[in-house]
Amino acid sequence: MKIIIFFISCLFTQNTPFFSGDMAFQFLLEQCEIGPRYPGSEGHLKTKKYFEDYLITKSHKLEIMDEKIKHPYKDFQLELTNYMARFYPERENRIMFMAHWDTREIADKDPIKENRNLPILGANDGASGIAILMVLADMLTKNSLYNIGVDLLFLDGEDMGQSGDINGFGLGTLEFTKNMPLPLPRYAICLDMVADKEPSFPMELFSLKQAPELVYIVWDIANDLGYHQFKREIGQAVYDDHRVLYLNSGIPSIDIIDFEYPNADTNYWHTLSDIPENCSKNTLEMVGNVVTTLIFMEDNQ
Ligand SMILES: [Zn+2]
Repeated sequence: MKIIIFFISCLFTQNTPFFSGDMAFQFLLEQCEIGPRYPGSEGHLKTKKYFEDYLITKSHKLEIMDEKIKHPYKDFQLELTNYMARFYPERENRIMFMAHWDTREIADKDPIKENRNLPILGANDGASGIAILMVLADMLTKNSLYNIGVDLLFLDGEDMGQSGDINGFGLGTLEFTKNMPLPLPRYAICLDMVADKEPSFPMELFSLKQAPELVYIVWDIANDLGYHQFKREIGQAVYDDHRVLYLNSGIPSIDIIDFEYPNADTNYWHTLSDIPENCSKNTLEMVGNVVTTLIFMEDNQ
């Protein structure tokens, strides 16, 4: 009898799969081994091949969205490519996770002046959020969902802006909002800079304005899992893909971002120090477990 009850309960309740930080870190390394991945670079082209090879078998439907845009500051055209790995693409009840895959062409915040025209490797600013999406893609091809659909959006052209000019940032997201695959998600969660060795995730300010209930749901999940690095305090406003998506589509969108990389005293953001050695698989695992728990919680509701 016990065996039968156990079997029946297995049929109707799903366990949340474990999110592997080791696997995510491997994906972070693979992206960085390609080199800088800014639009127009050789690494950008190689990364496109890398995603296409991976995502074609790790999605129920893969949308490849090529867009030609004018460079925001130079007089030539560029090709940006967004990828959307869709799971259960026909389901109306769906949620979306997104991250940017392009890296910054200039290390304009580097402490050494001679470095400021060199491209960054983008281990944390670029590869980290994508690494989590790649593990989720693997997980969702191996584990069924019964009620919701999930979209994983790999965004290009996030980091082309000049310091102080918000209009040069989030260009891939802007293109995405002009032609979004249907059905649209109920909400979107952006993952950016999610591999810091000294993790600290305050509640980002635009997120609290755009989708406060969702912020509290995500931070509650994190705290319940014992991740008190998800702090119940208001962080600074970060103009990121979640902001561009919300302003141009109205989709409630939040950002999970650790903007102090590694801490308030030292800054690796937009410097040549944004490298795998300054990233942690444990932090990837923390953020990955939070979003995995959310996905399977939504599916069980
Ligand atoms: Zn950046």
